[in-house]
Amino acid sequence: LSDRLTSTFKNLRTKGRLSEADIDATIREIRRALLDADVAVAVVREFAANVRERALGAEVSGALNPAEQVVKIVNAELVAILGGEARTVRFAKNPPTVIMLAGLQGAGKTTLAGKLAHDLRSKGHTPLLVAADLQRPNAVNQLSVVAERAGVPVFAPHPGVAGEDEVPTGDPVAVARDGVDTARSREHDVVIIDTAGRLGVDAELMQQAADIRDAVTPDEVLFVIDAMIGQDAVLTAQAFLDGVDFTGVVLTKLDGDARGGAALSVAKVTGRPIMFASTGEKLTDFEVFHPDRMASRILDMGDVLTLIEQAERAFDADEAEKMAAKVASGQDFTLADFLVQMQQMKKMGSMKKMLGMLPGMGQMREALDNFDEREVDRIEAIIRSMTPGERENPRIINGSRRARIAKGSGVRTSDVNQLLERFSGAQKMMRQMNKGGGGGMPAMPGM
Ligand code: GDP
Ligand code: MG
Repeated sequence: LSDRLTSTFKNLRTKGRLSEADIDATIREIRRALLDADVAVAVVREFAANVRERALGAEVSGALNPAEQVVKIVNAELVAILGGEARTVRFAKNPPTVIMLAGLQGAGKTTLAGKLAHDLRSKGHTPLLVAADLQRPNAVNQLSVVAERAGVPVFAPHPGVAGEDEVPTGDPVAVARDGVDTARSREHDVVIIDTAGRLGVDAELMQQAADIRDAVTPDEVLFVIDAMIGQDAVLTAQAFLDGVDFTGVVLTKLDGDARGGAALSVAKVTGRPIMFASTGEKLTDFEVFHPDRMASRILDMGDVLTLIEQAERAFDADEAEKMAAKVASGQDFTLADFLVQMQQMKKMGSMKKMLGMLPGMGQMREALDNFDEREVDRIEAIIRSMTPGERENPRIINGSRRARIAKGSGVRTSDVNQLLERFSGAQKMMRQMNKGGGGGMPAMPGM
């Protein structure tokens, strides 16, 4: 796929406004990539339509060609659907926190129960595993083995005595309820309930899961799904959503060669966050889900994404260098430079966070707190409505030009006046800094 895309890129080397033809050519490739990754067909269709709309409205980037820009939009959209920032377990105010696992047989619930318990234990929690899968021979034994490996206790109808092929007896709902009661009386702060699954979605199984849920009112219901499930992901996820409902998703068997289209399908159709990823049979093959890594895996374009990042970084560095050279040479700072700086500022949106972590940045932080992105958008719009001549030499901007610029950028004339005043202040500051022998902070006009 990457090869195909690379050739699409070659055909789209021209820079400029994103044309519909450019966008459509790239989206065709993206669509194919998503289908290759086994994303559900309906999800692909809707996704492509959304991306197309966003791309058509996108501003042209100086750093990227049209195809790269579309890929960047696709990636951002994928990451957003996959959950943006991953969420972890929400603990109950009054312990124990009850976590119930649900999913088809073989999805990896029992294995996950051990991994999750192990992870929580390493963070100082005291989980209890509850064996509420009484459907399959050996299910209780399997959980006991997993629990022992994880170093946590297990609550089961016949802990450790069920024979190899013995189907455990008892009522799974009662076992789940007793398990939670036991956790509470023995002061375990987390209880993880393993439940039974069937090979296909099944009404009786779903009812049992719903009954367990009603009996223990879990804080989290985790829907465990095999990443290899492919096109069936949507149906299965929807059935569990309707039948039991869940608060989060765990994707298993990501160590296999599945490209992970199931992740996108499930996230898109259910709107529930994907919380964890299971990547093998060992206890430690377990991680918090990373939407960005998953997006890159689904797109199968890790290289392209890296190139895009590099191109953008190089472009930024280039712009910064040009600006520095200009300031150092004592040339006047123009509105065009101001616009470039504004765009840089926008990209540094994370600066607030970054500066917040540094000591002794009080004044700077205050300035940044007052920094409003919409304000930057307004300033951008105003400068974009100026002619190149006006940007170079704002002194020529008389009353009628001000009115024209205001109209063109959809602001009031007073906004244009204010910007020109602020700019003139920034310009003076730049001149003074130059006189003072340069150095110091790069200018942050407008702040
Ligand atoms: P359950 O029926 O949902 O409880 O599923 P199990 O936990 O019993 O897992 C079914 C099979 O999948 C077992 O053989 C596990 O060892 C295996 N398994 C579970 N999770 C993973 C995983 O992340 N990667 C791989 N490769 N195998 C897994
Ligand atoms: Mg199991």
